[in-house]
Amino acid sequence: MAAGSPIELVALTKRYGTTLAVDAIDLKIAAGSYCCLLGPSGCGKTTTLRMIAGHEAASQGDILLGASNVTDLPPASRGTAMMFQSYALFPHLTVLDNVGFALKMRGVDKAERDAKARELLGLVDMANYVDRLPGQLSGGQQQRVALARALITEPQVLLLDEPLSALDPFLRIRMRAELKRLQRELGITFIHVTHGQDEAMALADMIVLMHDGKISQAGTPREVFNKPANEFVAKFIGGHNIVDRAGKKFAVRSDLMNLQTKKPAAKTDAILGTISEIEYQGTAFHITLAGKTGEDLIIQLAENKFDTTPLKVGTEVYAIWEPSLAHALG
Ligand code: ATP
Repeated sequence: MAAGSPIELVALTKRYGTTLAVDAIDLKIAAGSYCCLLGPSGCGKTTTLRMIAGHEAASQGDILLGASNVTDLPPASRGTAMMFQSYALFPHLTVLDNVGFALKMRGVDKAERDAKARELLGLVDMANYVDRLPGQLSGGQQQRVALARALITEPQVLLLDEPLSALDPFLRIRMRAELKRLQRELGITFIHVTHGQDEAMALADMIVLMHDGKISQAGTPREVFNKPANEFVAKFIGGHNIVDRAGKKFAVRSDLMNLQTKKPAAKTDAILGTISEIEYQGTAFHITLAGKTGEDLIIQLAENKFDTTPLKVGTEVYAIWEPSLAHALG
């Protein structure tokens, strides 16, 4: 299997008429890394992926894959392969022939392409299903076949468009672990579009969070979670409260805030409010606080902390946090 290649996007732009779908983005993705393009509907992630694949022409800018500029190359000559959201298997072809299809198009003889298809089906644990038709497989099995089919051309970069969205939640978590395992074993670069922040956190070496055709932040999951670049990132990633201090905005992780009824010591920051909701979430209680100065906060209290503080809906409490835990937003 070919080793992964680094990818670089340089001022990559896509216009549809007057819509600026992707707005001059610059991005470097390291060879052999798992990159998730994350963001709300319409932010431009699919368009970016399709431009890298060559299914959409760039309006401006460049796509560099390893040492080559692939911006104007047809999809099959780029060293990329794409796995689609609807796995798009050919319904009348067996699993083996679906996986071998790209090699057939390249004129590889049957014995060789069958051998290669069997090898890849082994890799995704589907060696026992070679003679089935796609309609005789579960959603998760179809997805594995689609993966094997995308990998048969030995791409340096695998592009995945919401690959887990059609699966039920349990299977989604299992398949995402398998994607990660495959990426590690093959060492190729994965670029995976998702609008699920949990999915991106679980999978990515690098999260690229997009908003309105631009990159809001690119970094490791821990960087993006602990040091959100701006209010949009903090809200999209979740798990933060945004507080205003002297006209400056800060993000404070909701699990790093605490609640107390007595007036806090001067050296901690605090917001006084009234509890408007208490939800039990298993590992923690999520407590919504209506702040006296207008802001709504959510505080996650671990079960044992909750048990030591008498809190009810309607209780007046201070949300407190160590000032050093507040992260300034740009
Ligand atoms: P989703 O999560 O909903 O798939 P996305 O982040 O992948 O969203 P894109 O599909 O890349 O978003 O779309 C970005 C913008 O470009 C949107 O405003 C969309 O309406 C617009 N757009 C996408 N494809 C076309 C097209 N073929 N013609 C015109 N506008 C388009």
